[in-house]
Amino acid sequence: MAPKPPPVESRYVVCAHCENRLEISASAMSVNCRHCNQRLIVEDMKIKAYHAVVRLATAGRVEVVKNAQLVAEVRVSELVVNGTVQGNVRTTHRVVVGKKGRIVGDVSSPLLSVAPGGEITGSVRIGAAAALQPRGS
Ligand SMILES: [Zn+2]
Repeated sequence: MAPKPPPVESRYVVCAHCENRLEISASAMSVNCRHCNQRLIVEDMKIKAYHAVVRLATAGRVEVVKNAQLVAEVRVSELVVNGTVQGNVRTTHRVVVGKKGRIVGDVSSPLLSVAPGGEITGSVRIGAAAALQPRGS
């Protein structure tokens, strides 16, 4: 008999497209959402230069490094801004704006931390009610 494979660890993410909750394997980099059938990236990303897309959606963490610029509608689990983000931002977890960080757009997030010197130009909604909430499983 073949040895039993080790148990697959799973975790829950919120689909950045349809906002439904998904169970995925802990090591998955991307999945097809079983609710909306769109490809959902779940790995972490680092934006290191100028990056412009209509929508940046991942169930992972996105970091915009110093001097980099992200132009997109952003839907992520966690956003760390040390450069510039231009576009509306929604997260399921939190937004961290560093002292050189700048967001030009509206921010909705359960948690927000802005270092002295960090800037947000737009409306800000913080707290559980602002979260990208799972709509059940
Ligand atoms: Zn979906």
